[in-house]
Amino acid sequence: MTSQAAAAHAATTEDFSHNLAAVRQRINAAAASVGRDPSTVRLLPVTKTIPAERLRLAIAAGVDTLGENKVQEALAKHEEFKADYPHLRYAVIGPLQTNKAKFVAQFADEFHALDSLKLAETLQRRLEAEDRRLEVFIQVNTSGEESKSGIQASEAAALLEAIEPLDRLIPVGLMTMAANTTDEASIRASFRLLRGTLEELQAAGAPAQFTQLSMGMSGDFELAIQEGATVVRVGQGIFGARQYPTTA
Ligand SMILES: *Cc1c(COP(=O)(O)O)cnc(C)c1O
Repeated sequence: MTSQAAAAHAATTEDFSHNLAAVRQRINAAAASVGRDPSTVRLLPVTKTIPAERLRLAIAAGVDTLGENKVQEALAKHEEFKADYPHLRYAVIGPLQTNKAKFVAQFADEFHALDSLKLAETLQRRLEAEDRRLEVFIQVNTSGEESKSGIQASEAAALLEAIEPLDRLIPVGLMTMAANTTDEASIRASFRLLRGTLEELQAAGAPAQFTQLSMGMSGDFELAIQEGATVVRVGQGIFGARQYPTTA
C-alpha cells in the first residue's frame, strides 16, 4: 500500500479523533460524488499490529469495532478489552485455517474471509458449542492475483446456497481486496465484479440481509465507495503507516 494513503502516526486521543474525522470526511465526499447517502457506508477500523495501549486512545476517540486479520491477535485484544469495553465489536478480516475456527467462534461478531464450505461447517459446529452466531462475508478473489484469498466469483452462488442451512452463520454479503496497484481501472474492475456478483446473487434469491459489500482499504476506499462499498476496511488511514508489512 502506498505511503500517501497513510495518516501521520497517531499518538493521542486527539490525533485519533482528527484522523477518524478526516477519513469520515473522505467517505462522505466519495459517497456524495456518486449521489450515495454516506450513512450507507460503514467505516471498519483495521487495528492489526496496533498495540492495546494505542488502541485504548483510539477507542476513546470513537473506534467501536476492531478489524484484525490474525485471529490470535484479535482474541488477545478481546481478552484485554472485554471487561473495560463490553460493547466493542470484533471483525476477523483475514483468511482463517479450519483449526482456528474455534477461536473465531468464541468472540468474533463478523468474519470477512469465508472461502470454503469446510470452514463454514467447522464454524457452525464451534458456534453451536459456544451458543453464538456470526455474521459472514464470502471472500471473492476479484483480482486474479494468486496471493489473494477467496473463491472465484462464479463459485459464490454455490457456496452461498451450501451455507444456507448453517443457522449459526448469518451471510451478510461479499468481501474482496483489489489488486495492489495504482492502476485505477484495474481496481475499479475488481470492485465492479464484486458488486455485479452481489446483484446476481440477490436476483437469484439470496437471503434478505445479504446486502453488504466489504471492499476498499486506505489506498482505494474512495474508488470502492464509488463502486458501491457498504463497508470500508481502513487501517493506515487512521493509525498511520504500519511498521511491518503484513500478509493478507
Ligand atoms: C490490513 C488490511 C486492511 C487495511 O489495510 P490498510 O492499508 O491499513 O488500510 C483491509 N483489509 C484487510 C483484509 C487487511 O488485511
